[in-house]
Amino acid sequence: KLPIVALVGRPNVGKSTLFNRITKSRKALVDPTPGVTRDRHYDRVTWENKSFVLVDTGGIDDNPEDLLVHHIKEQALAAIEEADIVLFLLDGKQGVTPADWEVVELLRRTEKPVFHIVNKVDSPENELELVSQFYELGIDKLWPLSAEHNYGFKSFMDGLCETM
Ligand code: GDP
Ligand code: MG
Repeated sequence: KLPIVALVGRPNVGKSTLFNRITKSRKALVDPTPGVTRDRHYDRVTWENKSFVLVDTGGIDDNPEDLLVHHIKEQALAAIEEADIVLFLLDGKQGVTPADWEVVELLRRTEKPVFHIVNKVDSPENELELVSQFYELGIDKLWPLSAEHNYGFKSFMDGLCETM
């Protein structure tokens, strides 16, 4: 059975962009037809010699903030239950939000591997500045990444596959 890797985080942090980047990198190798499964929320991925199922948990984009926090916590709980590895995305352009605190606390309770990704770090110039906003969350390791522009992508994927 393939490991399940779930993308979790607030709307607009870049979950679907990262989903597309990870699944496209796979398709570039094995599928000559681009864009065939664009709208799917799960896909099988092979990176180096590791295979897994990637799940994009996104969906609701315009809830009031209180419901939103509730929804994201539900999403994170479901991911902890069902996934083998959790990818929690933070928005480097936006910084820490109250919802981030709540989900981080919740994710501390699981023994499963959790990757805390600081997305929208588009180049090395502002990397330290963007990442250091999140030190207050007390996470051992933050993964700077640009889902849109590829910065940090290979190191992250290698790190992810090393846990499998
Ligand atoms: P989701 O709601 O978490 O699935 O977020 P989306 O993947 O739909 O992205 C939300 C917005 O953030 C879109 O406008 C993306 O273009 C933008 N975005 C996603 N990843 C990046 C990134 O790495 N850098 C920048 N600058 N913008 C990004
Ligand atoms: Mg999305």
